[in-house]
Amino acid sequence: RSMSSVTIPPPACMLRPLEVPLRYLFGPGPSNVPPRILAAGSRPIIGHLHPEMYEIMNDIKKGIQYAFQTENNMTIAMSGSGHAAMECAVFNTVEPGESVLIAINGIWGERVAEIAERMGANVHRMVKTPGRYFTNTEIEQAIKKHKPVLLFLAHGESSAGLCHPVDGIGDICRKHDCLFLVDTVASLGAAPIFMDKQNIDILYSGSQKALNAPPGTAPISFNDRACHKMFNRKTKPVSYLFDMTHLSNYWGCDGKPARVYHHTGPVSGFFALRESLAILAERVKGYFPTSSVTFLNKKSPFFICVLQDLRLPSVTTIAIPEGYDWREMLTYIMKHHCIEMTGGLGPSIGMVMRIGLMGYNCEKTNADMALHALADALKNCKKSKA
Ligand code: PMP
Repeated sequence: RSMSSVTIPPPACMLRPLEVPLRYLFGPGPSNVPPRILAAGSRPIIGHLHPEMYEIMNDIKKGIQYAFQTENNMTIAMSGSGHAAMECAVFNTVEPGESVLIAINGIWGERVAEIAERMGANVHRMVKTPGRYFTNTEIEQAIKKHKPVLLFLAHGESSAGLCHPVDGIGDICRKHDCLFLVDTVASLGAAPIFMDKQNIDILYSGSQKALNAPPGTAPISFNDRACHKMFNRKTKPVSYLFDMTHLSNYWGCDGKPARVYHHTGPVSGFFALRESLAILAERVKGYFPTSSVTFLNKKSPFFICVLQDLRLPSVTTIAIPEGYDWREMLTYIMKHHCIEMTGGLGPSIGMVMRIGLMGYNCEKTNADMALHALADALKNCKKSKA
């Protein structure tokens, strides 16, 4: 028996061509990617350390600075999804044993709390039911009590459909020597955010929602306060891949003349992200002037769960129509309309259904399609008598 002959045969599935269905992605992400961004992602690969790649990364940095409304030098894109940015933010700015305060009103706060616990932080949770918000007074009281080095808040709570007010919280954090970390994965490009003006110390987002890029890259930015804390640590961050001393060099943010190899970034993902940031920069305003809420509000026979002023423009949560099985409705809609919408997530499971119209998808015709599909599901899915 020769070592050169294979004993495991080629899998039959690999001898069939790749099949990908066309779908309307009207859930909380990913969203449909417009042809221009898909085309950017299909350009030939170049080396991750070629000067042309550095130029593209420099452009991405400028595009993120614009999208975040910040002049922070320490602005990069993670090689990874939104979770990579969540872990990067926490791993670099918090040391084991330090106290952090997490606002939880949906799934994302709980996720960050778990990430912080895993790296040994002393986690304090402020909890509300999904869709409720924290007042600045409540936040200041909790900061005074727990003396955290970091406060986490989701700007766009996609599991609840809530866009949390941010004004004033950054100032409270400054007063108490705490860093303010904000998640805009679901809201960037759909709801306005002003990192510098709002005194946000660390801000991150994702590529696959209102930016309409493929999943797999995640913008993140640190201001000087955050840099001071993360570059004066006593311990090294638990993650090598997400260590900002290395990533800041890879992205040309550390002032050193040469960039050295750390990891191989997702070259095609960066091409696509650059294109999506270019589209954002071409818009008259830095955010989409229309929102799914505007469209769904007017005609919808469904109850929208969040108070009008606090609704997230990109993801709308509607109450599950009484007597209906939400899973059956969503399966029906996928089967007959090729539309993805989703149920709740984490604490909002069984409470809501979620409709996301993000960026390029946020058009009145798409909202009409979504409402038509929902109405059709109400007609054709069975209603329980109870
Ligand atoms: N934060 C929020 C608010 C999100 O909506 C999501 C994605 N659903 C994430 C973080 C995590 O992003 P990813 O799935 O890209 O890791």
